[in-house]
Amino acid sequence: QQLTSESLYAINHFAQKFFSQQLLETDEGRNIALSYLKERGFREDIIHKFQIGYNPEARDTLTKALLANQFNREILPKTGLVALRNNDELVDNYRNRIIFPIHGNTGKIIGFGARVIGKSDRGPKYINTPENEIYVKSRILYGAYQARMAIDKADECLLVEGYTDVVSLHQAGIENVVASGGTSLTTDQIRLIKKYTSNLTIIYDGDNAGVKAALRGLDMALEEGLNVRLVLIPDNEDPDSYVNKVGVSAFNEFVAKSKKDFILFQLEVMLKEAGNDVSRKSAVVNQIAETLSKINKAEDFTRQQDYIRQCAGLLRIDEAGLTNLVNKYKRDKI
Ligand code: ATP
Ligand code: MN
Ligand code: MN
Ligand code: MN
Repeated sequence: QQLTSESLYAINHFAQKFFSQQLLETDEGRNIALSYLKERGFREDIIHKFQIGYNPEARDTLTKALLANQFNREILPKTGLVALRNNDELVDNYRNRIIFPIHGNTGKIIGFGARVIGKSDRGPKYINTPENEIYVKSRILYGAYQARMAIDKADECLLVEGYTDVVSLHQAGIENVVASGGTSLTTDQIRLIKKYTSNLTIIYDGDNAGVKAALRGLDMALEEGLNVRLVLIPDNEDPDSYVNKVGVSAFNEFVAKSKKDFILFQLEVMLKEAGNDVSRKSAVVNQIAETLSKINKAEDFTRQQDYIRQCAGLLRIDEAGLTNLVNKYKRDKI
C-alpha cells in the first residue's frame, strides 16, 4: 500500500515536470497550448505558479517517457495519465489537453485535471484523475495548497466552481480562493476550510445548477459552524470570464456589493417560489426552521438569534413562534 502511494506521487511528480516542459519548451506546446492559454488572458508567471502543462497530441509521448524512466508498468493506469488499450498497449490518456496539476495538503501532486483545447468536441471538456490511494475526490479543494496563507490572512475563503476561476482570480490578486469542481461541498472539504477560517463566500455563476449544488452543502456547512455568504456572477459568466470582462477593480466592487448572507438568500428564493400559496409558505417556514436548527454550536447562539429575528421579519411571522419551531427541530435531531 505504502509502496503504491509513493509510486503514485513519484509518477505524478515526473508527469508534471514533463507536461510543463512540453507546454513551454516545445513548438507544439507553444503553438497549440500556450497560445490558447495566452489568448484566454493567462500570464506566464501564473502558468508557472500553478504548474500548468500540456500533454501532446501523439498517442504515447508521456507513456514512453514514463517507461524509459523505469516506472512500473502495472500501476501506470491507476494514475489516469495512461490508459490500457487492446493488447496490453499503453497510451496517453490526456492527449492534446491542457493539464492542471492538483496539489495535496503537503504540496505533492495528487492528480490532474485535463482540459480540451478550445471548443473541441473530442470527449468531455475536463477529465480528472480517477479515485486512487492518493486522489480522493471528496477531500480535494483545488487551489487550497496555493491559497492557504491568503485564506488565513483574509479570514475568508472564496469558493468557485472551476480550475480556471481559481487561476484567474490569483492572477487578479485575489488569492484566498479554492474550487470544488462544481459539485456540492463534502464534510471533509468543509473541515479543510475550517482549519483556516469560519467565513466561506461562495462565488458561483448564476445558473440554477451551480446554486443548487451550492445549496446542498449549506446544512453541512452550518453544522460545522461556517458563516456562508453568496455572490452570484451575472449573465452566464463565471468568475474567470467576468474578471476578464470587467477588470479587477470592477470585479472586486461587484463582489463587495453583491455578497449576500446565504440563509437569507435561500429564504428569499423559497418565498418567491411559494408566492401566495399558504401551504407552500408554511413549508418554507418549516424548511428555514430546520436550516436554522443546524446552527448548533454553543458559540453560535447569538448568530442564531440574529437569524431568527431577520427570518421572522421576512416571513412576517412571530419571532417567538419561529424560535419554538427551531428548538423543536433541534430536539428532534437528538
Ligand atoms: P473553462 O473556463 O476552461 O471552460 P470552467 O471551470 O469554467 O472551465 P465549467 O464547465 O464551468 O468549466 O465547470 C466547472 C468545473 O467543473 C471544472 O473546472 C471542472 O473542475 C469540473 N468539470 C467540468 N466539466 C467536467 C467534466 N466533463 N468532467 C469532470 N469534471 C468537470
Ligand atoms: Mn455552471
Ligand atoms: Mn470558465
Ligand atoms: Mn465555469
